[in-house]
Amino acid sequence: MKVHNFSAGPSILPKEVMKKAAKAVEELDNSGLSLIEISHRSKAFIQIMDEACSRALELTGLQNKGYKAIFLQGGASLQFLMVAFNLLEKKAGYVNTGTWSEKAIKEAKLFGEVIEVANSKNTNFNYIPKGYKIPADLDYLHLTTNNTIFGTQIKEIPQTDIPLIADMSSDIFSRVFDYSKFDLFYAGAQKNMGPAGATLVIVKESLLGKVTRVIPSMLDYQIHADKESMFNTPPVFAVYTSMLNLRWIEEQGGIEALGAKNKLKSNLLYKEIDRNSKFKGFTAKEDRSEMNATFNLADPSLSEVFDTLCSTAGISGLKGHRSVGGYRASMYNALNIESIELLVNCMQTLEEKH
Ligand SMILES: *Cc1c(COP(=O)(O)O)cnc(C)c1O
Repeated sequence: MKVHNFSAGPSILPKEVMKKAAKAVEELDNSGLSLIEISHRSKAFIQIMDEACSRALELTGLQNKGYKAIFLQGGASLQFLMVAFNLLEKKAGYVNTGTWSEKAIKEAKLFGEVIEVANSKNTNFNYIPKGYKIPADLDYLHLTTNNTIFGTQIKEIPQTDIPLIADMSSDIFSRVFDYSKFDLFYAGAQKNMGPAGATLVIVKESLLGKVTRVIPSMLDYQIHADKESMFNTPPVFAVYTSMLNLRWIEEQGGIEALGAKNKLKSNLLYKEIDRNSKFKGFTAKEDRSEMNATFNLADPSLSEVFDTLCSTAGISGLKGHRSVGGYRASMYNALNIESIELLVNCMQTLEEKH
């Protein structure tokens, strides 16, 4: 039976990407060697890393604009502290839109003054704060563009002259976006880019080198940028598979085509959530994420029935995060509209029969 993977992360990747990645683990491009047994300093791997970095810049429209793409390890969670270590001299601002922002704030506080410019805590983060004042004396303002757990997404980037930093772990490469408004953004690979183990950081080089503290080499963006992501051994499999997925995105027509597909998918699901008397959406409508839809049953006692309907249909990974409950349908780039149609069918069956 075909399984429809709605998991929030690690999550769905295109089948053809996984096939090619699996093949390269056996043998990379008729070299007689596996991808995971060659030197990361071999010509073959340097080419892979170069292609991954330049594709990331190209897809985000940042090629030749003073930005550098680097692949690191440690997940988005290490970026919570690296951002502050490298950029926070006196004071930084954070918009707190949920669990991941809170974790970023906690780490940043180790390095300087941190102010929460706005938050949506009072309603369990079910909306994106807007129209807040941004103090003029911040070293940077940090946003989480898509809140994977709560299912909200920033649609409009705040206007400011202060350097903007973003955690884009769960919506990078998913929509047309003016990436050049950001001075640095990062994403753990395992949501919309590749397997766990690699983190993509795209940084405007002019942003670096301004803090007075000494930065340990492994945590220094400048060193990783200067060494072309090869300061130490990179996670070769995760980088290679991410590169294959970036190629796949290009083949699909780039972010524009995928963004349109993602809109169709999420519209279809949200329309059903609003229409179906058995379900309630969790977030404010204008802030709904195109990547992660969060919703609950109007009558929670129907959960067993609905779960069985879904699992019988081959739907996997729909359980909501413990801090929201209910359901979360993650609809990353590789998920096809047929999977959403199937979920909508299950929701309609529940309404008709129960
Ligand atoms: C998953 C996620 C993280 C954590 O990523 P790790 O790679 O596990 O550290 C951080 N931010 C967002 C928005 C996420 O979705």
